[in-house]
Amino acid sequence: MTHSYQHLQRLDAAHHIHPFNDNAELAKKGTRILVKGEGCYVWDAEGNKLLDAFAGLWCVNVGYGRKSMADVAARQMEQLAYYNTFFQCSTEPAIHLSAKLAEISPADLNHVFYSNSGSEGNDTVLRMVRHFWAVQGHPAKNVVIGRHNGYHGSTMAGASLGGMKGMHAQGGLPIPDIHHIDPPFFFADGGEMSEDEYGLAAARRLEEKILALGPERVAAFIGEPIMGAIGVYIPPRTYWPEVERICRKYDVLLVADEVICGYGRTGEWFGSQYFGFTPDIMTTAKGLTSGYIPMGAVLFNERVASVLRHQGGELAHGYTYSGHPVCAAVALENIRILQDEKIVETCRTDTGPYLAERWRELGEHPLVGEARIAGMVGALELVPDKGVRRFFEERGKVGALCRNIALKNGLILRATYDSMLLSPPLVISRDEIDELFEKAWKSLNETAREIA
Ligand SMILES: *Cc1c(COP(=O)(O)O)cnc(C)c1O
Repeated sequence: MTHSYQHLQRLDAAHHIHPFNDNAELAKKGTRILVKGEGCYVWDAEGNKLLDAFAGLWCVNVGYGRKSMADVAARQMEQLAYYNTFFQCSTEPAIHLSAKLAEISPADLNHVFYSNSGSEGNDTVLRMVRHFWAVQGHPAKNVVIGRHNGYHGSTMAGASLGGMKGMHAQGGLPIPDIHHIDPPFFFADGGEMSEDEYGLAAARRLEEKILALGPERVAAFIGEPIMGAIGVYIPPRTYWPEVERICRKYDVLLVADEVICGYGRTGEWFGSQYFGFTPDIMTTAKGLTSGYIPMGAVLFNERVASVLRHQGGELAHGYTYSGHPVCAAVALENIRILQDEKIVETCRTDTGPYLAERWRELGEHPLVGEARIAGMVGALELVPDKGVRRFFEERGKVGALCRNIALKNGLILRATYDSMLLSPPLVISRDEIDELFEKAWKSLNETAREIA
């Protein structure tokens, strides 16, 4: 195994350019090669068994190794491996999935456009919100407001809507008429305010921006209900309802990027339900198929869909694989599993609260300044002085160290700067949560010892 492991690493370094990596550095270190997954665990090619507390990349909601997912994919490939949805055509899985999504989505978000990923879904969003206003005689209402450090994917539109400076620096972004406001991050930014006061204040940045640009210019606001990639920023309860009120007041479309929160992550089916607001448009992907196959779905409410259908003319937009029958069949099976096994309900009423309890215990560790969690997504903020809401001087070093120590201890957590991010498969059991706690606590201890 070892010989072939090094051989694989050499081939990988020679021919494979990895996303979000310094590829020169990575080639020197060598990649970790994963070979197997079962439930909440993955195995690497050296035989190490790892508890995957990050569900791949926020996506393996139903856990690894589900045979029924493979079975429906195989059956659909044999039956009809591919057909497009362009030329007056449709396929059975795509039709059934659209109806199913309309059933499980909140309010009147009953209309779906298919992409292959979250990034592509947000490309669709950008084009459709501008098109929505243009065909109604408001072509100048084309600005979309996102948030600094938001993440909406890596395509030109996705990275522009997102607010990651490092991404904007590569490729001449953001594309025109996209603006950003500061995100809600109470830990760093809340000052002396209560969380509720801060939530309102942070939301009102949107109103200021809309007024500065002129409401007649602003097409939409886009945000992740919980900001994932930047470090699981969970906004105060007051934030989203106020954002919704502001969007309604100025007739600005409200887009929830539910790529992480969607399909149960918060213990509700969608993050907007967790926070009690109703978007006009939702971008979804990741948990839609639990990562077993690539697929995204953008959901539109009646108002937006009706304009696109009746005033939009011929939609000059679509992907070869929009509504791919194999992906749709897998998504249907994924949703069937979530429903039949009552996975979302269990997260809300049982395993989620238990995970939160144990996560807050981790928050008592001297290295942890804040333990935040909502359903099955959370973060530990590592800090130099417990009790002071302040970051390390050199950000990211301790987080990376802690992540590597956790890996050595058989636990996968992600680190953004010094936030340790948690997003396990939704099927994680109480015993596995205990194991997660033990491994995380041990890793925090070893990290603290190493930096002392
Ligand atoms: C992952 C992610 C995306 C991008 O999805 P891809 O499938 O990687 O293109 C968009 N928005 C959010 C909130 C995400 O977490």
